[in-house]
Amino acid sequence: MAQGFLAMPERSAYRLRNATVPAPLLSELPPGVPVSPDGLAVVDVFVRDGRIDAVVAAETREGPEASVDLARGQLWPCLIDVHTHLDKGHTWERAANQDGTFGGAIRAVSEDRAARWSADDVRRRMNFGLRCSWAHGTKAVRTHLDSFAPQGAITWPVFEALRKEWAGRLELQAVSLVPLQIFGTRDGDELANRVATAGGILGAVAYISPEIDALLDRLLELAAERGLDVDFHCDESGDVGARALGHIARAVLRRRFKGRVVCGHCCSLAIQPPDVVTETLDLVAQAAISVISLPMCNLYLQDRVPGRTPRWRGVTLLHELAARRVPVAVASDNTRDAFYGFGDHDMLEVFREAARICHLDRPYGDWPRAVTTTPADLMGLAEGGRIGPGLPADLVLFEGRTWSELLSRPEANRVVLRNGRAIDRRPPDYRDLDDLLR
Ligand SMILES: [Zn+2]
Repeated sequence: MAQGFLAMPERSAYRLRNATVPAPLLSELPPGVPVSPDGLAVVDVFVRDGRIDAVVAAETREGPEASVDLARGQLWPCLIDVHTHLDKGHTWERAANQDGTFGGAIRAVSEDRAARWSADDVRRRMNFGLRCSWAHGTKAVRTHLDSFAPQGAITWPVFEALRKEWAGRLELQAVSLVPLQIFGTRDGDELANRVATAGGILGAVAYISPEIDALLDRLLELAAERGLDVDFHCDESGDVGARALGHIARAVLRRRFKGRVVCGHCCSLAIQPPDVVTETLDLVAQAAISVISLPMCNLYLQDRVPGRTPRWRGVTLLHELAARRVPVAVASDNTRDAFYGFGDHDMLEVFREAARICHLDRPYGDWPRAVTTTPADLMGLAEGGRIGPGLPADLVLFEGRTWSELLSRPEANRVVLRNGRAIDRRPPDYRDLDDLLR
């Protein structure tokens, strides 16, 4: 079994010694533990019967109990991937993006979906993605699912079966992905019923149109009637006129919507005039909307013109949103499909790339929460994304001690503990999908 850089004791009770934890990931800072200027604290963590028993200041002496010395390697809670597209994943080799643009992605995926997305095809590719997530130390995944006819009827039952299969290992949530226009028709009502039956989240791609406010009102009404949270794809373009985010915030305030509201992407916010930006940021904060940024996919698709060098990074205003106390998470988005030609469902990679693309490193501050605590809260997982007494010992152990060490290598030899036990960390073999690519 591939366990990683440290061998864990075969015991139900042991101590993880000299573990460096980003302080914002501790549910409470134990007394007497200094925090470095980079926000790191060194602690000992006692594990008992699959849970964290105690977190204390690191002791230099070994105790009588079984223990493992991390030698100051970093210790994180298991990671949370709050925005993925498992149904599109791992199709690149048969449906590549010909010119790398957003339009090219839509064309490639639409053709592939119409021709190839049977229940078996979708199930095997989604499961492949989940095996990657599991191997890299993720414990919860939210996926958007293309939900218009006839695909929705194929994919949702597959998702529900996978959620059952993975129960206890990966917490799975699904969001409907449809054009907002559907909510101007009876199809919107049917979709809301399907989502509610499956315990999902109601979502759509919010495009600017003359009807946008009426459509948002209807979506929120359907969600409120069924007690559903909502999750939008929003302004994923470099078009200054893409301003759905402000419309969503106004709709949430107008309808006094009580569920959780999440907006993903919000790319165009970064290139709008300052007065529009200020007004939109204020509305988002007032409406208690959370924002998910997808830095790797945005960097790939935004500002792409064949033969021309890109001039902006495509990401939304993470720092300005965080300054207004808007919860901000980062996530994988697409993986090895026409929207993003790379990726492995590895949230450490997502954090590493986000740190570089979005400058989350000066200072690191609360940003480690963007792949842990914040997405756990968005998904309603009270025990997820933090380290503290009484919480499950679902932890990732890294060899890197400082930020520079952690984020310079892929940390492919990390150890993943689930309920205190090391898991087999081998990701699936690409060859497992070869017959789907012919
Ligand atoms: Zn997306």
